[in-house]
Amino acid sequence: MQGHCDEYDYLYKVVLIGDSGVGKSNLLSRFTQNEFSLESRSTIGIEFATRTVDISGKTVKAQIWDTAGQERYRAITTAFYRGAVGALLVYDISRHNTFDNVSRWLAELRDNSDPNVLIILVGNKSDLRHLRAVSTEEAMAFAEKNNIMFIETSALDASNVDDAFMLLLTETYKTLSTFTP
Ligand code: GDP
Repeated sequence: MQGHCDEYDYLYKVVLIGDSGVGKSNLLSRFTQNEFSLESRSTIGIEFATRTVDISGKTVKAQIWDTAGQERYRAITTAFYRGAVGALLVYDISRHNTFDNVSRWLAELRDNSDPNVLIILVGNKSDLRHLRAVSTEEAMAFAEKNNIMFIETSALDASNVDDAFMLLLTETYKTLSTFTP
């Protein structure tokens, strides 16, 4: 989705998906407010936050949507994905089952969004080195096979969080600006 007004050149809707507890809310608050919380606070329905960034001299407003994605919220799935130009598909490097579910999230995303949506696979909680259950190589191979980007982050120590969002937003900008006359 591209919008236009005085304050920004482009408005990009980006969605955060992945199992409950992988750190989606904290990635969102780290990127938009530079905040982290140790308490797991279940997202009720949908919430979003924004941050305005500069990409190639253009002002891009990223509107980032987060949801718990629980079964009882299935009714909002369509609204959640509508108009999204990018997605961060998050798993927790210390819980292999959250990585096993990535293919399910990918299928849901592809069923509900534009075929051109850009996707970055995000292995969060990289600070939990001693508890690592998903290797970087395994995740990288999955990303390559599915033609999506990949990065490991820590919302806790802020490592690679800006990079994850900026990589997605910059690639989105490159893709969309190709279609601008
Ligand atoms: P969500 O359900 O996917 O939105 O996950 P939350 O953002 O609520 O995080 C779930 C739990 O994981 C919380 O206790 C967070 O403090 C913790 N958490 C989130 N990100 C990280 C991280 O990068 N490292 C560590 N060690 N814990 C994290």
